[in-house]
Amino acid sequence: MVITRFAPSPTGDLHIGSARTALFCWLWSKNQHGKFILRIEDTDRERSTDQAVQVILDGLEWLGLRWDEGPIYQTQRFDRYKQVAKQLLNDGHAYKCYCTKERLEVLRDQQIAAKQKPRYDGYCLRFPHPPHDNMPYVIRFKTPQTGSIAFNDLVKGPIEIQNTELDDLILVRSDGTPTYNFTVVVDDWEMGITHVLRGDDHINNTPRQIHILQALGAKIPQYGHMPMLLGPDGKKLSKRDGAASVLDYRLQGILPEALLNYLVRLGWSHGDTEIFSVDEMIKLFDVNAINGSASAINPEKLLWLNQHYLKTKPEAEIAKELAWHFDRLGIDVSKGPALEQIVIAQRDRCKTIVEIVQKSQFLFQEDVVIDEESLNKHFNQEAFHALAAIINQLKTVNDWKPEAINNAIKSVVEELGIKLGLIAQPIRIAVTGGTVSPSIDTTLALLGKEKSLQRLQDALSLKTEMFPEG
Ligand code: GLU
Repeated sequence: MVITRFAPSPTGDLHIGSARTALFCWLWSKNQHGKFILRIEDTDRERSTDQAVQVILDGLEWLGLRWDEGPIYQTQRFDRYKQVAKQLLNDGHAYKCYCTKERLEVLRDQQIAAKQKPRYDGYCLRFPHPPHDNMPYVIRFKTPQTGSIAFNDLVKGPIEIQNTELDDLILVRSDGTPTYNFTVVVDDWEMGITHVLRGDDHINNTPRQIHILQALGAKIPQYGHMPMLLGPDGKKLSKRDGAASVLDYRLQGILPEALLNYLVRLGWSHGDTEIFSVDEMIKLFDVNAINGSASAINPEKLLWLNQHYLKTKPEAEIAKELAWHFDRLGIDVSKGPALEQIVIAQRDRCKTIVEIVQKSQFLFQEDVVIDEESLNKHFNQEAFHALAAIINQLKTVNDWKPEAINNAIKSVVEELGIKLGLIAQPIRIAVTGGTVSPSIDTTLALLGKEKSLQRLQDALSLKTEMFPEG
């Protein structure tokens, strides 16, 4: 069975590069009817925080990348790492090293001066006895000094490293804590991981990890190292490029499907197709088709995808996302129109959820303020006259729906022989405070009869201020 894992270190945001890794691991496990494990690599206790763990869990959940097992926390497995270290010591694959920091520093300086690559010289392997009792020690892995390690990277192709390039890495520090390379190996082994997909910043660790796995008699997973994501300018992706974390994108009003679709195309393709539903991704994804060249992010494409999903995703689901945004802004939506109705009215006019929120806030405000400029530009005597007639007509509308509202307004417009344009904008301004909104009838229907009439009345009462002579 295919078993993949996402193994983030909880030290900050859920970066989109990591989210892409999680997505690819998840997709491959789904495609192969396998298992996807979430493992939290929190052994660096100074840098790991509970808050960062929560950000990861929330981000994955929002994206819909459900894990089949976990989260498994490495800090809860320290006893197991200790046992395995002992096993490696007993089997002669590891040894205790008593070298002091001072000795290692001198060694390093000498190697640098001699233009050699700094590496541990195996002193304690040759002289295995502590200089005196109770000396602190680290546990080092005994790396074979001849031959090489070769693996066929799923993304980068065949890779071979000479063992002489590798030194005897530390598995357990002098304070008893295990190192990254060691915990990863023990976990990948015990969790039966078959495919390790991760960023190519880990590629130098892979030969070391394979050595340890071999020493444990473990099956070696297949490795795939994905290139980093780049900014739109082709340089390293940074905060300057706008959103860099999953939460940032959510805050910008991106839908999870859009982000998934966007991420899957950063490093994978299937012909010229750009739009993939999650089911299609699962069906078509192939770990052997991951692209080895670095991909640059493209914010315009993300917006384009977001618009696509705004138009096509069921409104009830979009409404849930809208509720999250209003909630963050402290806006109580319980007294306004149903959020689904807002989605229906705004989905074709907006690129993001944030835009929908901004353009729909008027529905939840107590009242609206009409600025001087709009007042002078759109509210002349004739408009006020028509407004008064429209208010009267609207009062008679019982079935407060766009069609009935539209008929009421039309009948006044016809009766007065004016153009709809003369009155449409004043009504819009009166009820929304601005000049952009869905069609007038839809806008009034959304706002509700009572609030609409109240706001139109408020606008009408400005007449005496503007035209005191009547
Ligand atoms: N914890 C590592 C990281 O967040 C990933 C390790 C791995 O995937 O092997 O970079």
